[in-house]
Amino acid sequence: MAKSLPILVSKETYAKFDACIHCGMCLPACPTYLLTGDEADSPRGRIHYMKTAVDGRIEASAMVFEHLDRCLVCRACEPACPSGVEYHDLLEAVRPQVARVVLGRGRGLKNRWLEWMVRNVFPYPKRVAMSVLPLKVARAMGLGGVVERIARMLPSPLGQMAAMLPEGRVWGEALAGFTPAEGGHRGSVILLQGCIGSVVSKALNRACVRVLARNGFDVHLLASEPCCGAMAAHANDPEGAREFARQVVDALAGRDADYFISPIAGCGAQLKALGEVLQDVPGYAERAMRVAKRMRDITEFLAEVGIRPPEKSIERTVTYHDSCHLLNAQHVAAAPRQLLAMIPGLKVVKLEESDVCCGAAGTYNLSQPEMAGRLGERKAGHIVETGAAECVTANVGCQMQIEKSLRAAGRPMRVRHVVEVLAEAYGEGE
Ligand code: SF4
Ligand code: SF4
Repeated sequence: MAKSLPILVSKETYAKFDACIHCGMCLPACPTYLLTGDEADSPRGRIHYMKTAVDGRIEASAMVFEHLDRCLVCRACEPACPSGVEYHDLLEAVRPQVARVVLGRGRGLKNRWLEWMVRNVFPYPKRVAMSVLPLKVARAMGLGGVVERIARMLPSPLGQMAAMLPEGRVWGEALAGFTPAEGGHRGSVILLQGCIGSVVSKALNRACVRVLARNGFDVHLLASEPCCGAMAAHANDPEGAREFARQVVDALAGRDADYFISPIAGCGAQLKALGEVLQDVPGYAERAMRVAKRMRDITEFLAEVGIRPPEKSIERTVTYHDSCHLLNAQHVAAAPRQLLAMIPGLKVVKLEESDVCCGAAGTYNLSQPEMAGRLGERKAGHIVETGAAECVTANVGCQMQIEKSLRAAGRPMRVRHVVEVLAEAYGEGE
């Protein structure tokens, strides 16, 4: 028998292993199993590895870590499971410990450079802005292609990042800290722009502000917005995720806005889970729950409160891709489609496998570029098959990953957020 391993989980978490009846109904829903056909890359296989590692019946080896690391945490296995296995809780409890055993103390990702970026750059908007400045300047000088070619020769994640960064539309001026409601006041919200989102998706954030104000909401932005902690969680750093969660609660708990709105599905999912992340932290658990209750994805919020009918007709055929963190973590499927259906002239055609991950998944496209590339290619193929002129989604990470995949497939196409299309239909520009 292999020597026992120091992988520890609480009694409550261990009981979740026992909920799995090994039926295999989750397998066809799992994107990594769809790609490899290997049981070890399926939810059932990963649950088996995790449980036997906790039981001390197998080593937390590099092979085990690789199969756990290939998990996108897209959570598509959860709605497919008849037994209600809370898979993500198991993975989040076990994978960071396996990473520590395999990679060493304080480590969560295989790639040291990416790990450094996740911990020291991505959660801080000013540092993100500095890191993309060379590409921004080069593109302004018409040298974007040269810089991207050089970046692709550098260590893998940097090249991937350069290929991911969207074209000119992302650059823009800073947004006003406050935008008043138009045409009758219905409430007030704080728009959370996201730490990377505040740098690379200014066009989207501007569209969100305009659409919210048009629909009667005062829109506030935080002068200094803490990271939600989603990237730390993805990078097997639960302590980091908890620290960011505390900062978010400190920033939001005392604010009197009716709702906190996120246009980024990954951030929204993490922020709705603040209560669970901080459940054992004295002085934070209650406040975190109250903040989480006021969190809404922007599409969910707009559908919930009801929007003013857009006036402008958009004669275009589009297709919609479900973001995993919106669909499987936040359980929001109908709202984005309802909003698109309200736009005069817009035709939405069905996307095959719209609920299969595109490969973005937080930092997955940087930490597992080969698997992410194959998922992106699969997604791009389905999008091209629809004949749509544009792909629409509700997550910045998906936008960047799908745009990159379509470019790589030689079929470049615009990928926009639902709210960007809605803003266009309100006559707020493209
Ligand atoms: S979270 Fe996604 S990738 Fe991971 S096991 Fe479940 S379906 Fe597969
Ligand atoms: S569907 Fe649920 S119960 Fe069945 S194998 Fe997958 S996780 Fe286990």
